[in-house]
Amino acid sequence: MKLVIVGGGHAAAQIATSLRQHKFEGEATLVSDEPVVPYQRPPLSKMYLSGEIGAERLPILREQAYEGANIALKLGVRATSVDRLAKTVSLADGETLAYDKLILAVGGRARRLDCKGSDLAGIHYVRTMADTDAMRGEFEHAKRLVIVGGGYIGLEIASVARKAGKQVTILEAADRILGRVVAPEVSAFYTHLHIEEGVEIHTDKLVTEIEGTDRANAVLTSDGSRYEADMVIAGIGLIANTELAETAGIDVLPQGIPVDDHCRTSDPDIFAVGDVAWFTHAFYDRPMRLESVQNAVDQAKVATENALGGDMTYNALPWFWSDQYGLKLQIAGLSEGYDELVMRGNSDERSVAFFYLKDGKMIAADCIGRIAEFMNAKKLIAGKVSVSKDQLLDKRPFKEVAAELLA
Ligand code: NAP
Repeated sequence: MKLVIVGGGHAAAQIATSLRQHKFEGEATLVSDEPVVPYQRPPLSKMYLSGEIGAERLPILREQAYEGANIALKLGVRATSVDRLAKTVSLADGETLAYDKLILAVGGRARRLDCKGSDLAGIHYVRTMADTDAMRGEFEHAKRLVIVGGGYIGLEIASVARKAGKQVTILEAADRILGRVVAPEVSAFYTHLHIEEGVEIHTDKLVTEIEGTDRANAVLTSDGSRYEADMVIAGIGLIANTELAETAGIDVLPQGIPVDDHCRTSDPDIFAVGDVAWFTHAFYDRPMRLESVQNAVDQAKVATENALGGDMTYNALPWFWSDQYGLKLQIAGLSEGYDELVMRGNSDERSVAFFYLKDGKMIAADCIGRIAEFMNAKKLIAGKVSVSKDQLLDKRPFKEVAAELLA
């Protein structure tokens, strides 16, 4: 059995772990266009950027672990096309790999600004280790930082930059930060937190131009405002890497590569997992892409099992996390369509959980410095347990409250 894995992120590393657990004895090859073994991406906008951890701490598995799982590594080489009839993958170095099963764990790339001046030096994005390495020198010396986008990347970088004493301005196109992922109340919490920590946040700001001669020195927005900057970092979303799948002639949408609940594409011998996969989630009954470590890891487990002849369906509860100013945000579930929001705790003390309810059941929770609430919310959501506001505000420790609700 010949297995080819394309990609170098969390999903690729999980496939290696799963193959090891299966005591895989076939031939597997992992192809990544990055020159290093798959590594953890979350620290790129946090502790790796701040210098608190070095490159040696990033790999998810050591190189020897791939050998131990019978996986040959082809690093720093791009997979350029897939021939479905011949069942081969062509690489940029001229090599051709034969496969019986192919797993596309190709992820996405940072969306780039495309306004006037967006090709100037001094504008950075964060997706790969190389991105963070490329900005480090400038980041250390920059005094005024303009961040475009108030999503996770933007907010986490703002937190690192403030700790380093920089002047930080965030420009967000929408009317609130984190608008796509949390309720207005949670956006308000994070706006307040960042302002308290000294960040300037401007919403409804569409960037129209980056000004500068040889490098960026100011950002202009559509309402005529001008923000001076020594450096610009944009975190304005992700574009799914669907190009390789297109060469294979399998079904591909602008949103991603469609897969079924077994992570299979329209070709049963080709699987797609992680940030690039477009799938109908069993919990939410609508197609989506999920950009998260959890999804990459859980879909990788499913695809590996099925590529090896198993019959596993994907139905994991989504969860996410973000670290800002030493505060941990943990999100369970997706909150869309909620009809009631219950706040447990005290937002002034930076310890609060927001529970999202729909028809008397919890569908999601945003927990800030509230681990017990997060752990138990996951169970309440997965169990589709009926809950009321009064129960969720019960003053006893949440573990006890949840145990009663789950009994
Ligand atoms: P994101 O979470 O999609 O946030 C991008 C933000 O930028 C959105 O609020 C978006 O507003 C705004 N935006 C888009 N175009 C803009 C423009 N031209 N000017 C100003 N604002 C603009 O994406 P991200 O923060 O770049 O993160 C990229 C990926 O990394 C995501 O998959 C993210 O989940 C992942 N990541 C996750 C974490 C974590 O989970 N802790 C940390 C870092 C990165 P609209 O919604 O209006 O478009």
